Amino acid sequence: MSDEQAVKPGRNQERGVAIWLTGLSGAGKTTISIPLVEKLRTMGYCVQRLDGDVVRKKLTRDLGFSKKDRDKNIERVTFVAELLVNHGVVTVCAFISPYQAERQYARSEIGRFVEVFVKCPLEVCEERDVKGLYAQARRGEILNFTGIDDPYEEPENAEITVDTSEMTLESEVDAIILYLRENGYIM
Ligand code: ADP
Repeated sequence: MSDEQAVKPGRNQERGVAIWLTGLSGAGKTTISIPLVEKLRTMGYCVQRLDGDVVRKKLTRDLGFSKKDRDKNIERVTFVAELLVNHGVVTVCAFISPYQAERQYARSEIGRFVEVFVKCPLEVCEERDVKGLYAQARRGEILNFTGIDDPYEEPENAEITVDTSEMTLESEVDAIILYLRENGYIM
C-alpha cells in the first residue's frame, strides 16, 4: 500500500472503539482515563473522554442513583458513545456502571467495546476517599452509595483487569494500550 493509501489516524478512516472503565468510586477510573487519553492523542487518534462526574452535571443531571436512574444514565451514555465510536472516535468511558446487565447492554449496542475492570478493594477506595463521599455514605448522609448500601457487580468478562491497589498508574495505562494494540484496535 502506498503512503497515500495508508490509513492515517485522526482522519476518521480508522474504526473507533469504546474503552469502558468500570469500578468503585475512587478505584481510579478518572485517574487512568486522563493519561490514557493523552497517550492515544499523542499517537494521533481522535479521542473523547466521557466521565461519569462530568456527564452527571450535564447530560444526565436530572438523574439520581436509584437502579432505574443508574440504568438510564448508562443507556444515555451508551447512545453518545455509540455515535462517537461509529464516527471513528476512540471513546474512553469512565463510569462506575455497577450492573453487569447495563454493561452488557453498552457492549451489545456499541459493538467495538473493551471493558476494563478498574479493580480496587473497597477498604482502599474508602481509605483514599478522594471526594469524601465514603465518609458521608457511612454517616448515612448519602444513600444508594455503591459498595456501601448499593451493589457493585464485578465484571465477569472484562477484557482487561487492572488492580490499582497493586499496580502503578503507568503500568495500568500501558496494559490498556498493549491490549488495544495486540487486538488490532490501534496500530
Ligand atoms: P474514580 O474515577 O474511579 O472514582 P479517581 O480516579 O477519582 O477514582 O480516584 C482514584 C484515586 O486513587 C486518586 O486519588 C489516585 O491518585 C489514587 N490512586 C492511587 N494509586 C493509583 C493507581 N495505581 N491507579 C489509579 N489511581 C490511583
